[in-house]
Amino acid sequence: MPAHDADFDPARAIANARQLKPAQGSLHTPIDPSATFDVERATDLPKLFTHELNPDEHGRYLYGRPLNPTVHALATKLAAMEATEAAACAASGISVIAACAMHHCKPGERILASQALYGGTFSLFSRFLPNHAGLTVDFVDMGDLGAVRAAITDSTRMLYVETMSNPTLRVADIPALATIARGAGAPLVVDNTFSPITVAPALHGADVVIHSLTKFINGATDLLGGVLCGPKALIDEMQDLHDGALMLLGSAMDARVAHEIAARLPHLPLRIEEHCKRALLYAQRLHERGMRVVYPGLANHPSYETLSRIHNERYGFGGMLGLDMGDRERADRLLDLLRAKGFGRIAVSLGFHDTLMCVAGATTASGMDAASRERVGVSPGYIRFAIGISGAVEDRWAAMEQSLDALDAHH
Ligand code: PLP
Repeated sequence: MPAHDADFDPARAIANARQLKPAQGSLHTPIDPSATFDVERATDLPKLFTHELNPDEHGRYLYGRPLNPTVHALATKLAAMEATEAAACAASGISVIAACAMHHCKPGERILASQALYGGTFSLFSRFLPNHAGLTVDFVDMGDLGAVRAAITDSTRMLYVETMSNPTLRVADIPALATIARGAGAPLVVDNTFSPITVAPALHGADVVIHSLTKFINGATDLLGGVLCGPKALIDEMQDLHDGALMLLGSAMDARVAHEIAARLPHLPLRIEEHCKRALLYAQRLHERGMRVVYPGLANHPSYETLSRIHNERYGFGGMLGLDMGDRERADRLLDLLRAKGFGRIAVSLGFHDTLMCVAGATTASGMDAASRERVGVSPGYIRFAIGISGAVEDRWAAMEQSLDALDAHH
């Protein structure tokens, strides 16, 4: 090309640039970021609206909000992981939970939910959806099966529970709850964010499995996402162009995010194994030190028996751990010491390579009122640990011991 070409138009050059084919032998599913898709004939476009042409049978896509091929590829992998027919991804975990609730429940109808939930879900269920969508959520102790049966009404349209409750780690008896849900003709929806790989709720009768992909599945705490895994008919309805909650509430996942998460899925089981191994080790040692440890892999935890029955043995008892320090001031002091000595970071969220820790009542569970927190056992000094997998285990444990010694010396 001459040094100066008056006719050169970079806009044209970009448009005419040769399209490289995906490399043969590439180790990745290519990212397809298309938000819309070209058809060869005008008469094909309406067929994408009627599903005469569709992603599953023809590999044909209409528009990025209902479905994009890269997002579809991730959803297919997550459905396989959760042993469900299909899955749909979205921009965050909470958007999936909201869409799922609004899909199943119309104004005047009811959801029966666990009283021990992530604070954001609790806020959504106790205030936002009743106020803005006219549905009612009844909260119950899901560990009390008699109370669950008694709380079901003719207008209950969905049962909602977390496999391991945030932050108290009570484990849902999914087989028993699935039987009750089936009897009531309502689906059992399980938030499995705390226990991917460790528990596969659909194998125990759950109809729908939800994850915040922001946590363990992502693993790097650098992007947000959510997924709903369930029967194909449900996924199709929720992605329906004219009536689907996922489609119309509009929290679609970006293809680039889907690609990143898909690239991390193959090492999720290895990561989970290590999260679980370290959490169990610290739980045992803290217990030996006489601390009030909350870990469902210890025989003294009320859910030990339930989790032993439903977990995938190879992957342990989860990477979350609670420590009840009694009062808020002691808990805050311990966090500061732990951070200074390198045990972990003071932050909400979970599934990062480093340990993340917070005083739950004042942070992630602050969406619950004090009475609700007390009912589910979140004391003001309850520390939630999301145990990490990086650093040398014994260095991290030494940081914990030094911090506890310093705390004791202060008192
Ligand atoms: N479910 C659980 C158990 C969570 O802990 C969270 C977030 O902390 C969510 C759902 C919401 O996920 P997201 O932040 O991706 O919307």
